[in-house]
Amino acid sequence: MYIIFLGAPGAGKGTQASDVAQELNLIHIASGDLFRQALEQGTELGIKAESYMERGVLVPDQITIGMVLERISAPDCEGGAILDGFPRNLEQAEALDKALAQQSKAIDKVVYIEVSEEELLKRLSGRWICRQCQTPYHITNSPPKVWGKCDKCGGELYQRPDDTVENIRKRLEVYSVETAPLIDYYARVDKLLEIDGEGGVDEVGGRIIAALHGERL
Ligand code: AMP
Repeated sequence: MYIIFLGAPGAGKGTQASDVAQELNLIHIASGDLFRQALEQGTELGIKAESYMERGVLVPDQITIGMVLERISAPDCEGGAILDGFPRNLEQAEALDKALAQQSKAIDKVVYIEVSEEELLKRLSGRWICRQCQTPYHITNSPPKVWGKCDKCGGELYQRPDDTVENIRKRLEVYSVETAPLIDYYARVDKLLEIDGEGGVDEVGGRIIAALHGERL
């Protein structure tokens, strides 16, 4: 089973994708996390991606598509995966469809999480993330039990360097120009599940699970 989580930066894709992956026993693949890991390890891929991430623009397709397709073809993804942050434009979506079709596979559903721009800005500017396991927190909406420490693994929490007001604006603009057309792309093939992303984490998670169960996946 292959499920895509689609939505603007700050819509809650990471949090929800991680919870649903656990619930459905699927591997969670977040393209942004793959880039951040590469950057932390100082690999060539990470160095190439850094300048794009710093500016809040998309890393070129020649780099991104290869990285994600390689991850999806690893043995642990044989039974399927949840894709979070990929695809982010039509070229990536088409490359993904083609690669899966070559293995007689296809995307099953696309969970599109909808959140107002006002709420997105609030969420992104108060976001803190675990350096070790990438679990996201929010200073007011979902603070950790002990300030600065991850509830799940005890890792150190940090604010992403690209979560600045200027960068957030740029990422939202890139989303509406390059990524939003994917809503139509997947709606046309009847794969889109529209989810109201406003409200608490558990509330939104409940809506997603109910929608996926409704599809009898
Ligand atoms: P995210 O963690 O999903 O917000 O991604 C952080 C940054 O990584 C983005 O602003 C992009 O620069 C880059 N990135 C992540 N996923 C993609 C993708 N599918 N295509 C291009 N760039 C990406």
